[in-house]
Amino acid sequence: MIGAGGVATVAAYKIVQNADVFTEFMIASRRKAKCDALVEAIHKKGYTMPIQTAQVDADDVEQLKALFNDYKPELVINLALPYQDLTIMEACLACGCNYLDTANYEPKDEAHFEYSWQWAYRDRFREAGLTAILGCGFDPGVTSIFTAYAAKHHFKEIQYLDIVDCNAGDHHKAFATNFNPEINIREITQKGLYWENGQWVETEPLEIHKDLTYPEIGPRDSYLLHHEEIESLVINYPTIRRARFWMTFGQQYLKHLEVIQNIGMSRIDEVEYEAPLADGSGTAKVKIVPLQFLKAVLPNPQDLGENYEGQTSIGCRIRGIGNDGKEHTYYIYNNCSHRAAYEETGMQGVSYTTGVPAMIGAMMFCKGLWRKPGVFNVEEFDPDPFLEQLNKQGLPWHEIHDGDLEL
Ligand code: NDP
Repeated sequence: MIGAGGVATVAAYKIVQNADVFTEFMIASRRKAKCDALVEAIHKKGYTMPIQTAQVDADDVEQLKALFNDYKPELVINLALPYQDLTIMEACLACGCNYLDTANYEPKDEAHFEYSWQWAYRDRFREAGLTAILGCGFDPGVTSIFTAYAAKHHFKEIQYLDIVDCNAGDHHKAFATNFNPEINIREITQKGLYWENGQWVETEPLEIHKDLTYPEIGPRDSYLLHHEEIESLVINYPTIRRARFWMTFGQQYLKHLEVIQNIGMSRIDEVEYEAPLADGSGTAKVKIVPLQFLKAVLPNPQDLGENYEGQTSIGCRIRGIGNDGKEHTYYIYNNCSHRAAYEETGMQGVSYTTGVPAMIGAMMFCKGLWRKPGVFNVEEFDPDPFLEQLNKQGLPWHEIHDGDLEL
């Protein structure tokens, strides 16, 4: 497993809880001390699975190759950042390792994500007889698998798909992001995008929003965003006429985000800054990326768990032609309590809802259920064994047939 952040912490706890499938693993990240601290915390809780740790810069293919050739992992779970997807895939190919991630590749100098960069590896993985599983978190991940489940069991034709993501939790901070702040702010400040009648429709950032009612939570203002799973779902389910993604934001969050943008702190280009030297001997001109500096002063998402109340609710609202030839609606979702996630893993619900599916994806691979040569999005595998595990591993899901979708 590469990375030792919030999502990786949850995945590590879940791996050791499933000792009938996983026998040993390694946690490798930019800072080995962070991996060691995580292993110590896991072992203190009484889990005895052997876990090795290592330092690696996952931007460097040669370092990754040296690590993989030494440890010889069957599967590499990439829980670092989207910037590292391609270097890790390259190293996997060079060393004969299979691959799984939770977010699609994004270049550092351009706030833009799409699958084309990773889909370009299809032939090479296929020819090498290796499996790459893309986007196995919650969204992308479980939302794509929910859609596959709806298509397999309930619909002849999915026509309208709305993925709805609500975080109704309160961490009692004025402003904080729930996962890596740099990745999160880049995602939200992008233009919106959705699929309608065979083409992409672009909106201004956060231009379209409406109240949607979430189970056990109630109405929350929900904003249309571009989200990566839509890109593969409209290809894999060509009957979809319209596909959109919605995420809730509170006014307090949006107010801070607006200020951050207006004062230039969300910039991802380098700016020159005259910085004092650590030894006090003078100053030096340094280059900083404002958004990376902002990440250094914002609360660490890993530290939000302790006082986090409330729950997340993420699911798919689907309309289409059912197996009986009539029009039906279907809502499939999971609610996750931040407190329960914290009590089990020390992390909040957003890390939990990502780390659990990453572990289940790895489990599907190790059991041989999701294993075929090539590069695949998760909806291209059988959803049934995955969703059976989701119920068992702390993220139970629910269905509402023929309810009001509000959309
Ligand atoms: P964090 O920032 O908490 O963790 C990232 C980890 O990767 C850190 O341990 C970091 O090291 C390490 N890392 C960063 N760069 C490198 C590098 N060059 N070499 C080695 N290690 C590196 O992020 P999260 O845990 O919140 O998120 C992890 C991933 O999950 C992200 O890709 C994110 O986009 C994705 N995600 C997916 C979701 C989904 O539903 N699909 C939802 C939420 C997140 P260090 O500790 O030293 O900084």
